[in-house]
Amino acid sequence: MKLFGFAAVLLVAATNANATDSVQLYTLDCGTIEVSDMVSFDKQRRFAGQSITLKVPCYLIRHPDGDLLWDAGLDEALAANPEGIGTTFHSTMSQTLTSQLAELGMSPADIEYLSLSHWHPDHAGNANLFGHSTWIANRAERDFMFSDAMKEAQTGYSALKTAKTILFDETYDVFGDGSAVVYGTPGHTPGHSVLLLTLNSAGALLFSGDLYIHEESRTLRAIPLFNTDIGQTLQSMDRFEALAEQHQARVVIEHDKNHFEAMPKFPKYLD
Ligand SMILES: [Zn+2]
Repeated sequence: MKLFGFAAVLLVAATNANATDSVQLYTLDCGTIEVSDMVSFDKQRRFAGQSITLKVPCYLIRHPDGDLLWDAGLDEALAANPEGIGTTFHSTMSQTLTSQLAELGMSPADIEYLSLSHWHPDHAGNANLFGHSTWIANRAERDFMFSDAMKEAQTGYSALKTAKTILFDETYDVFGDGSAVVYGTPGHTPGHSVLLLTLNSAGALLFSGDLYIHEESRTLRAIPLFNTDIGQTLQSMDRFEALAEQHQARVVIEHDKNHFEAMPKFPKYLD
């Protein structure tokens, strides 16, 4: 019996060696933003007068070597206010990130790695729940987030200042096996980034952050009014499209409601 047990352990170890076999992607609902006028999403004003419902997802990647949260949604305190907040951008939340993690028997304390496409409050809103996690941060984004110009916004993510941090410039392979790789795609913000995830069955997925807001903005290469550097953003779009092509990746435009709804409904997952 002892020998059999030892063999079973070896078998489990061998199975886990191919880590991507057991990587799972959960799409969590971290809010909704009703935009009554999309004029600010394109410098050429091509969306002026249009309205849109944007989703705000958080993505949980469960890997044998740890859990990664990609983007942290809107601040979950919003869920206590059923009316929502804001006017042109009206934000609501039907459930908290914490309650969704609890459905998996998890809490924010169980998340080993946090990475954010950028600092905006609909992507970093729950960052303060993850001060204990290892933050995988684009160096330019982190420098900007804790610059003097950002003193007021910093309360939204102050816990990250002292978090264990892994800084990257161009790219970072989170688990060292190519299953989750973050790429710097600056321009929307100084160190905006995107995530390339490779799953065993579902294949490659490329998460846009805010490089694109919806399908049409990808087609038109629209640059929003709130954008740090146009030249960088256009270069980043080229980099993103090259990655999508190279890896034959399914592009996931994070705010696009259709892309959100095309994902397995939580707690179902992709693997
Ligand atoms: Zn943004």
